[in-house]
Amino acid sequence: MNPIVNVASVTKSYNKNIVLNDVNLIIEKGQIYGLIGPSGAGKTTLVKIIVGMENADKGSINVLGKKMPDLEVLQDIGYMSQSDALYSELTGEENLKFFASLFKLNKIYQKERIEYAARLVNLTDELKKKVSAYSGGMKRRLSLGIALIQNPSVLILDEPTVGIDPELRFSIWNELRRLKEKEGKTIIVTTHVMDEAIKCDVLAMVRNGLVLTSGTPKDLMESYSVSNLEDVFLKAGGKQL
Ligand code: ADP
Repeated sequence: MNPIVNVASVTKSYNKNIVLNDVNLIIEKGQIYGLIGPSGAGKTTLVKIIVGMENADKGSINVLGKKMPDLEVLQDIGYMSQSDALYSELTGEENLKFFASLFKLNKIYQKERIEYAARLVNLTDELKKKVSAYSGGMKRRLSLGIALIQNPSVLILDEPTVGIDPELRFSIWNELRRLKEKEGKTIIVTTHVMDEAIKCDVLAMVRNGLVLTSGTPKDLMESYSVSNLEDVFLKAGGKQL
């Protein structure tokens, strides 16, 4: 099997603080792969290294068979960072158009993708408003829409549902599942909440830069003889999330 994402022996320090310690991950096509761990565990640093925004001190990253960072592969990754990178003086629609134009989508396809992205994150009726008038949750939703704009085959979403109400969270997760099942997309998602972790196909539990354990939620609960993921995390060496 050719993994879609292969993280091999990645180590990273900031000012002598080890933030990632020999991290290895193999992510196959069509998986929703969850990175779960408390704040400060190293999840954001890891996804930034995967998308080439940070360099690892040691180790290597391959995405879609290419050593990262690779310009061509980057075009096929939809990345949603934890901080919203939006133009606040532009409307929601103008932001979506701007990012669509970066990928040189033709006008008809651009329109289709903007409609799709806005519908997915329930912003269709708010598209004409300036982003400066958006709430925090609306900005998160717009960022998620932007991550999907060019129809990438790999999605890397850093805490995508923080600040989003339960109903929309539910529909976003349904859509992630549909994208995986019907379109074969590979999705990496970071979270610190267990009710999202359980929806992932495979999980890596991270704490202090170490992958404590990984596997499907079911296998993890079975191998630690517990009935919930919180207890897996505790038994694997984590602390209360
Ligand atoms: P998480 O996403 O799991 O909350 P992060 O990857 O954001 O974790 O952070 C992991 C650790 O790395 C934290 O202790 C954080 O303070 C530190 N860190 C992250 N980015 C930097 C940076 N640019 N400079 C120094 N320390 C950093």
